[in-house]
Order: sequence, then structure tokens, then C-alpha cells
Amino acid sequence: MKAFQVRAPFEFGLAHVEVPQIAPGEVKVDVAYAGICGSDMHIIHGQNAFVRFPRVTGHEFSGVVREVGEGVEHLKAGDRVCIDPVISCGTCYPCRINRPNVCTKLQVIGVHRDGGFSEQVCVPASNAHRLPDSMSLSHAALVEPYSIALNVLDRMHVHPGDSLLIYGAGVIGLTLVQMARALGLTDITVTDVIDARLETAKALGASRTLNGQAVDVEATMRELTHGEGVPLIVDAACIPSLMPQMVRLASPAGRIGLLGFNATPSDLVQLEMIKKELTLVGSRLNNRKFPKVIELIASGKLQVQELVSHQVSFDEMPAAIDLIENHPEQTRKVLVQLGEARH
Ligand SMILES: [Zn+2]
Ligand SMILES: [Zn+2]
Repeated sequence: MKAFQVRAPFEFGLAHVEVPQIAPGEVKVDVAYAGICGSDMHIIHGQNAFVRFPRVTGHEFSGVVREVGEGVEHLKAGDRVCIDPVISCGTCYPCRINRPNVCTKLQVIGVHRDGGFSEQVCVPASNAHRLPDSMSLSHAALVEPYSIALNVLDRMHVHPGDSLLIYGAGVIGLTLVQMARALGLTDITVTDVIDARLETAKALGASRTLNGQAVDVEATMRELTHGEGVPLIVDAACIPSLMPQMVRLASPAGRIGLLGFNATPSDLVQLEMIKKELTLVGSRLNNRKFPKVIELIASGKLQVQELVSHQVSFDEMPAAIDLIENHPEQTRKVLVQLGEARH
């Protein structure tokens, strides 16, 4: 069967690989759609220490169950599903306190084991979520990026009426804008340095946008909040040098959500954090957010189609990777359709 394989850093392409063998407790899925993510690009660049090569990547995908393994009762062949990529052990400390997304033996489908850029893939049945009839398989492939947004906002304990500042209007920033709206927030500011991205953020529900190269974000936000600061701040730009500004801008009792995987240290001032009793939360992947995201998409509360800038066939995927590599500003989510057209 055909799969998109990264053989070594910067060495990738479509390859013929063995059809996976199904194990007890697993389902075999005919993949329908898969999204290309920034973290797939990191794997291609050799920047993900968890990856062993060769690897079939892809952690945002949907499909149709082809076969169920021994002991699987809640799914059957023909079921339409999307896949939560987080596989946890169930027994370590984080698993015991219901934080499986930071399991000490964490396995991410498409990172630690082969993923969705493949005609068929086997996954634990508990990771496959059945779709409502009203939800398309193409939209279902994007449940995962929205689960990232829901996870960080849930970690930050959002209250209705809180204002939110999002750094970064890339795909994650855009899912955050939509998710914040769906959770009832109405005052959402997005900052980035690319105007085209900011325009999309505005179209998707941002109350205002600030180009950080044109305006002083800190002074503007201070003025807008009458000096009080912002209760909710998310770093979806993943730039460590911005963290001190976030700490200065946060209101007393503010919450800052961090999504970056950057190893560069940043200078934070203890006094600011203690004086205002700030909460800084890291957020990784998602902690069982798939059912809620599926419900939000099925009920029309998220504008999924607006996230997609390109839809390509499996054969066009290597060219799409080149486009993302060379012109990231021209892309939002690139969706790959695998195999035959499926509903
Ligand atoms: Zn992703
Ligand atoms: Zn565990």
C-alpha cells in the first residue's frame, strides 16, 4: 500500500509499505483525509527527538473502519471515524490523575508510531471516535487541531466575559479564535506580523487584530484594558522572548497558556508573577477533548472549512510539503485526500 514516509531528515516521499497487521483491541482504518501540521514539518526537518526513522507521519486524520480486532465491540466495519493520536499507558502517575496526554509512556500516532498518511492504519479502538452522520470526513480530519485549542483554553479556566489575547495567527491561532468564540468569549485580540493571517483571524471572529511590526502591542493592550491587563493570554506563536511581555500584560489573576516546544530560555520576573498571582500553564496535545470538539463541529459552532487553504490528492502531497516549506504564508491547513473519494 501507499504511504508518505520520512526516511531521514529532509528525505521523504510516497513509498510502498507493508499493509499493517491488526492486533487485538485495534481497528484497521481506510484513511480518508489527513491534515498536514507544523509538527509534521518538524519531523521532516529532523527536529522531533521522539521520532525513529523511517516513519509514516500524520496525526490529524479520519477514515472508515475496514476491520476490527479481537475484543473490539463498540465499532464495526463501515463506521466513519476520526482518530485521537494520544496513546497512554493508563497506569503511570499522570494517567492515574487523568492526564493521559502527558503519560510517561506517551505514544503519539504519527510520531512515535506510524500515522495517517497511509492508505490503511491500525490504531487502538479506544482512539477511534465514531462520527455523527452530519459530519463530513474532511472536517473530521481537523478535529485534532481544534482539540489543541480546546485543551489549552480548558487548562486556563475560561470565564464568560474574559478578554483573550492570542499571539500568533497561524493555524493554531485560528482554531483558538474559533474555539474561544464557541466557548462564549467575545473580546478576542490576535497579534501576528503577517497581515494576511490577521485578516483571516478577523474573518473568523477576532474582535481586533494588531500587527506587532506596526503597533506597540503592549501599550495598545494596556490602553484597551484601561491599565488592568488581560486575563487570558495564549502563546500560539511559540516565541520564548515574548513571554516576559505576556507576564507584564497579564491582569492580576490572569492565566497564560503556552503551546511552544522551544528550548530557548526566557527571562521571567518572579515579582510580576507573584504580585498578580498569575497562572502559567503548559498544554500538550489533548486530554480526551475529541467528543466535545466533534459535538461543536457537528453543531456548526466551528467554521472548519475556513481553516483549509488547500486540498490535495495523496500523489500531490510531496508538492504540498514543498509549498508549505517555501511559502508558509500562502497556506493555512493543507488537507490531503487519500485513496478513493469517500463521503
Ligand atoms: Zn497537528
Ligand atoms: Zn501513563
